[in-house]
Amino acid sequence: MLVYSHADCLLKDNGFNHPERKERLDSILESIKQIKDIKINFKEAPLADMDSISLVHPKKHIEKIFSNIPKSGLIGVEKEPYADTMLCSNSKKAILRSCGAGIAAADDLMNNNKRIFCAIRPPGHHAETTKAMGFCFINNIAVTARYLQKKYKINKVAIIDFDVHHGNGTQEIFYNDETVAYGSSHEFPLFPGTGSEEETGVGNIFNAPIKSGMKGKEFLKVFEQKVLNPINKFKPEIILISAGFDAHTRDPLANINLESKDYYEITKKIVDLANIHSKGRIISFLEGGYDLLALSESIEEHFLALKI
Ligand SMILES: [Zn+2]
Repeated sequence: MLVYSHADCLLKDNGFNHPERKERLDSILESIKQIKDIKINFKEAPLADMDSISLVHPKKHIEKIFSNIPKSGLIGVEKEPYADTMLCSNSKKAILRSCGAGIAAADDLMNNNKRIFCAIRPPGHHAETTKAMGFCFINNIAVTARYLQKKYKINKVAIIDFDVHHGNGTQEIFYNDETVAYGSSHEFPLFPGTGSEEETGVGNIFNAPIKSGMKGKEFLKVFEQKVLNPINKFKPEIILISAGFDAHTRDPLANINLESKDYYEITKKIVDLANIHSKGRIISFLEGGYDLLALSESIEEHFLALKI
C-alpha cells in the first residue's frame, strides 16, 4: 500500500480549541506506522499545480483565497455562523500538498498501485467550485477525479463518502455530471444541511441520510442499500473514498454510533465493489474525524480492509 502525506499538512493551524488540529494527522500516521501485516510505502505529497486545481476551481477563486492568507495570526474565510474555516500563514503549502497528494496518487494508481491512502489536512469534501467552507478550501477528491478523467481518459469514477457530514462540495461539483457518481452516508440533519434523498443530480447522486443515534449494523444496511447498490449499477472504473471517521461513537462533532471495527466492514464492502468493477483500484482521502483514539483505531481497520 502507498500512503501520501507531508509535514506541511501538520503546519496548518486553526487556532486554540479547534477540532481540525494537527494532532489528528499525527494520530493517523502513528497508527499507520504500527500496522504490522501490511507493507506500506510512504511518499511525500507534491504541491498541486494550478492547471490541475482549475479542473475544478476557477483560478481566480483560488488566488483570492491565497491572497487572504495572513502573515501571522488567523483569518476566517466564512461568514457567521460558521466562522471556523481559517487561514494561517502556513495554509497555502498545506492546501497545495493535500490536493497534490491526490494528483500524485492518481499517477501511481495508473502505474499499477491499487490501494493508496492520502493522509492529509485540510480536508476537501465541503469545498464547492467557488466556495471554501467547513474547514475545506480545495476539493481534493474532486480534483483527483477530474485529473484521472482528463489525463488517463477514465470515463466513470465513483466517489464514496462515509464522513458523518454530507460532502456538499463534491455533490455540487458533479451535480450535472453523469460520468462521476457520488454516494454519501451522513447524519441528517446536520452541517452542512444538504444531502437529502431528493438531491439526485442527473441520476448520479446517491444520498443516504442517517438518523442521529444509529449504530453499525443498521448503518451498514442503509449504506449498502442507498450507496453501494446504486454505485454497483454505475460500474465505476475507479473508486475514490472520502474517508471521514467522525461517525464514530466517540466523535465530538456528530451523533452516529459506529465502533472502530465497523470501519473494517464499511471499507471491505467498498473493496468488494472495486474488485468487481474497478480492477481493485481505490484511492482513499482523509476527510473528517475529530477524536484521536477513534481516528487511530479506525484507520487501522480501514487499512486492514484495504489490504490486498
Ligand atoms: Zn465530517
